[in-house]
Amino acid sequence: MNAVIIDGQAIALKVRGEITKLVSEAKARYGEVPGIAVVLVGDDVASQIYVASKEKVAVSAGMRSVILRLPASVSEKELLTVIEKLNYDTKIHGILIQLPLPEHINAAVILSAVSPLKDVDGFHPQNVGKLYTGEKSFVPCTPLGIMKLLKEYGINLVGKRAVVIGRSNIVGKPMSALLLTADATVTICHSKTKDLPDVCREADILVVAIGKARMITKDYVRDGAVVIDAGINRLNGRICGDADFENLLDAVSAITPVPKGVGPMTIAMLISNTLQSFMENIKS
Ligand code: NAP
Repeated sequence: MNAVIIDGQAIALKVRGEITKLVSEAKARYGEVPGIAVVLVGDDVASQIYVASKEKVAVSAGMRSVILRLPASVSEKELLTVIEKLNYDTKIHGILIQLPLPEHINAAVILSAVSPLKDVDGFHPQNVGKLYTGEKSFVPCTPLGIMKLLKEYGINLVGKRAVVIGRSNIVGKPMSALLLTADATVTICHSKTKDLPDVCREADILVVAIGKARMITKDYVRDGAVVIDAGINRLNGRICGDADFENLLDAVSAITPVPKGVGPMTIAMLISNTLQSFMENIKS
């Protein structure tokens, strides 16, 4: 089988180009640009790299970007004060709390403190609830980016069997909600799922968000399935996904590579959500 390699990099660049144009039009019309604030606590190296690339993409789209760097010793109260200020800052339309937070800080309390109207990560309970009840909300960026990839590649979901491996609040759960809303029949799997390969082989669309390098082999995949790989793992000094990409190529009909698959879409959706927040604010 000649698998289609889903080019997340190209789609992300296309989306970013569209957003750049809309930001420039908004600037000409309203004299303002969307602003995004990223709160980074501590000095986790991976988080610093993610935050730097988010800033680069936002700035390249013409947005205002602010990074608030706080020491790992910051108290929950101090962090809440920073968020409160951002909630009231009229130049900031998107607030992002870079995860993970230090252990002494309750992430759920912090994420709930972000105004749901500026919650461009879609992690506030109000936005989570709206996603499940089908109301308009901010949707977490990685699953939103995956839906965009499926749409761009004309992959029909109606009535299809979709299996999602992973049940995190960031990827797995919102992914399954979006697939369900798109009329797929959805199964969610996790580390306690029995007979995982058998369950996965029922999938027309298999979304993997596990964090285990190259775990998904041909055993898990039905011939002709679409595999979407959100995983980012480091193996022998190289980045790879949760799917055994090379070995799946002759079994699947389409697959995302890692890197250049889902990853670039996540940041593109972040600036898309920030633009959405800006436009809603300007209209209200
Ligand atoms: P997470 O919170 O660690 O969740 C991992 C999920 O995988 C859990 O639900 C876990 O099950 C399940 N799991 C672990 N081992 C398993 C196994 N052997 N069999 C079946 N299920 C298993 O991770 P996450 O935040 O969702 O991230 C998942 C991956 O996506 C990571 O590699 C992460 O780096 C990547 N990621 C990428 C992006 C992007 O922009 N592309 C964004 C976010 C995350 P339990 O719930 O039972 O523990």
